[in-house]
Amino acid sequence: MIKLLFIDRDGTLVIEPPINYQLDSLEKLEFYPKVFQCLSKIYSELDYEFVMVTNQDGLGTASFPEDSFWPAHNKIIKAFENEGIIFSEIIIDRTLPHENAPTRKPRTGLLTKYINNDKYDIKNSLVIGDRLTDVELAKNLGCKAILLTQVISTIPDDLSGTLILKTKTWSDIYNFLMNK
Ligand SMILES: [Mg+2]
Repeated sequence: MIKLLFIDRDGTLVIEPPINYQLDSLEKLEFYPKVFQCLSKIYSELDYEFVMVTNQDGLGTASFPEDSFWPAHNKIIKAFENEGIIFSEIIIDRTLPHENAPTRKPRTGLLTKYINNDKYDIKNSLVIGDRLTDVELAKNLGCKAILLTQVISTIPDDLSGTLILKTKTWSDIYNFLMNK
């Protein structure tokens, strides 16, 4: 069975732009420290398939036009590819928070094929992200979560069983997965 790493994009692979949280220009593109080094080791030394899962609020609307999104996004994908890191699927939800869409993280509407499927070892899969909604996603999927964060200090009780590591660094994530 295939184990998966569901990996968030903004705040996890790349730094989330502080002003409007939109990575809508190349000038704003900055990768998370050590992400290439650590992810390429995880990819080559461990047995996970990578799936990128990202909410891009209002993508394709006037508030976030397509042509301000794709140049940076394509550069991100290419940069990881150049290091041998391939995402088997890239899942983008475009809805706004208030729409409460079933496709929006932490909901699993775009990930149903990974659930109750003998091909995937969902119990031993992980979500890696920078927000509590990423931990919630893991809970909803039936897997565990790693929180990569500089800020969140309190974990709600109902998520504490899902969260297996909280850290500020990709190096910690690599070391944790190596010794798992
Ligand atoms: Mg994020």
